[in-house]
Amino acid sequence: MNIILPQTIESEAVERLEEAGHTVVTAPDPKPETVLPLMKNAHAVILRTGITMTRKLIEAAADLKIISRTGGGFDNVDVKAATDNEVIVTSNLGVNSISVCEHVLAMMLSLAKQLPLLDRAVRNDNYSIRYQNLSRDLNTKTIGLLGFGRIGVLVATACQAVFNMKVLACDPYLADEVKAQYAELAHFVDKEQLCRESDVISVHVPLTEQTRHALSTAEFELMKSGAIVINTSRGPVIDEEALVEALRNNVIGGAGLDVQSQEPPDPESPLLKLDKVLLTPHSAALTNECVTRMATEAADRTLEVLAGKKPLNVANPEVLAAQRWQHLA
Ligand code: NAD
Repeated sequence: MNIILPQTIESEAVERLEEAGHTVVTAPDPKPETVLPLMKNAHAVILRTGITMTRKLIEAAADLKIISRTGGGFDNVDVKAATDNEVIVTSNLGVNSISVCEHVLAMMLSLAKQLPLLDRAVRNDNYSIRYQNLSRDLNTKTIGLLGFGRIGVLVATACQAVFNMKVLACDPYLADEVKAQYAELAHFVDKEQLCRESDVISVHVPLTEQTRHALSTAEFELMKSGAIVINTSRGPVIDEEALVEALRNNVIGGAGLDVQSQEPPDPESPLLKLDKVLLTPHSAALTNECVTRMATEAADRTLEVLAGKKPLNVANPEVLAAQRWQHLA
């Protein structure tokens, strides 16, 4: 069978596909006009984020069986068009959660221990900064999680186990039985209490109309003056102008932002000039291990379908009712 890669994926995943006897065709670039002619003979597509699988591309592939996303979202797949054409769409929800969790812990520790500031001081011949006791311990402090899904739960578990931190969580969409399951791990509170009582606040909600600017002036004013805010979810969940004001006026202690309202940020953005801000380029999930895991998992979903097995993580399960898929084991 022919497996089309609009963009390259890790060699471990390609080897897995070739060892199963399939032909892997990598597009020279992911532009729709480049990928379109390759779709004619495609049985499967393994999809990163560089191209959208539109109805036009899907319908150009009469034999297409599966679109296998390396990541968790489907923003770049016309799932309706796939379903209309009896094409299975799969994803990799949760495959990057542990990598994002580690990134949160790295940011939290880095800000609590003031690593960027101390590093700059040593390089600038200011060794005596050590006597200012700028670092803070996390032990027995409180972490507040806005959003208690896959990543939030991992961060909570690590913070409790390693630093003996108290965990507060705000997630109004969790069912009571799920909250009961986590009663030993987290105290469920509203956003106001979370902001008032947390030493570190980490954001793990999707970007929705309800979560846009979920943390703004009113929330920063509730926080402790040393509070650290970490965002690895989506930039617009935090009102960045309000965050800059809160940091400038010492309303809060620091911020770690893997995501920003504009990516990459404007070179004139005040965020870039604030010492109390730690910035990374939306890279929390882009560890070497995680991208390999995303590619090999996407290859496995593809191999499952091509071998006549029902794949994991189907995004459009209604498609499995089609006559075409009745043979799947
Ligand atoms: P998830 O779906 O498992 O959990 C999200 C949680 O947020 C759910 O429990 C949901 O009930 C809760 N929620 C929704 N609206 C809320 C609200 N208004 N207030 C409080 N809670 C609310 O998602 P996840 O896998 O934990 O990922 C969380 C976020 O991290 C997502 O936005 C995702 O896009 C982002 N993410 C970023 C990276 C990165 O590289 N930085 C990588 C993976 C995921």
